[in-house]
Amino acid sequence: MAEVKLTGINKSFGGHVVIPNLDLTVPDGSFTVLVGPSGCGKSTLLRMISGLDQPSEGTLRIGGEDMTHVQPSHRGISMVFQSYALYPHMTVAQNIDFGLRLAKIPAAERERRVAEAARILSLENYLDRKPGQLSGGQRQRVAIGRSIVRQPKVFLFDEPLSNLDAALRTQMRIELAQLHQSLGATMIYVTHDQVEAMTLADQIVVMNGGRIEQVGAPMELYERPATEFVAGFIGSPK
Ligand code: ADP
Ligand code: MG
Repeated sequence: MAEVKLTGINKSFGGHVVIPNLDLTVPDGSFTVLVGPSGCGKSTLLRMISGLDQPSEGTLRIGGEDMTHVQPSHRGISMVFQSYALYPHMTVAQNIDFGLRLAKIPAAERERRVAEAARILSLENYLDRKPGQLSGGQRQRVAIGRSIVRQPKVFLFDEPLSNLDAALRTQMRIELAQLHQSLGATMIYVTHDQVEAMTLADQIVVMNGGRIEQVGAPMELYERPATEFVAGFIGSPK
């Protein structure tokens, strides 16, 4: 079980309040998308969930357990970034395997998990290549593969497709939806792309200036926006 629950979260940087007082429940197994304009606090929120950053106040629970002060590697979470940060000198297989080696998982189990991730991501024929020999979409799949093999309960994505061209974004969107279906994990996904949000989400969280404007299913926000801001944001094409 990996519901993510934020209660009374406040985040300030040097006295400047970025997130004043935020409550949010991300249901177990949901595909929850955070949307909102640049600078509204989406990445900050993800960083606090992952443990890369600490809230100034408030509590974070994952699967009912208080994780507010637990170190990132013990949260059962994995984060996929916009920039892939693959190791250029390693093969695809070695890149996917790297975190498992660090975690001292036995070799046979590592091999099994890498093969399984490669199958899910259609990378079976690319395992011996270096990142420089891959397309942008393949590199992004390798980055996702590195997350999958850790078997996290929660995946965090920070604008993972924003560096890709439009056709590839569409393709990756379909693949991410399939990935969510096959893994059944909780996914929290940041984007400023309304189409991505509307097509991927079970639940959309609309943020503005560090606050939540509305939480709801895509059609709910589309048909019954709670504020002018939500109406403008969901209704306007990119
Ligand atoms: P988003 O991801 O929605 O574009 P961010 O979470 O990156 O927004 O940033 C939210 C606000 O917090 C911005 O005003 C940004 O300048 C500020 N901020 C983020 N990280 C830091 C930091 N490490 N130090 C100071 N201010 C920061
Ligand atoms: Mg951001």
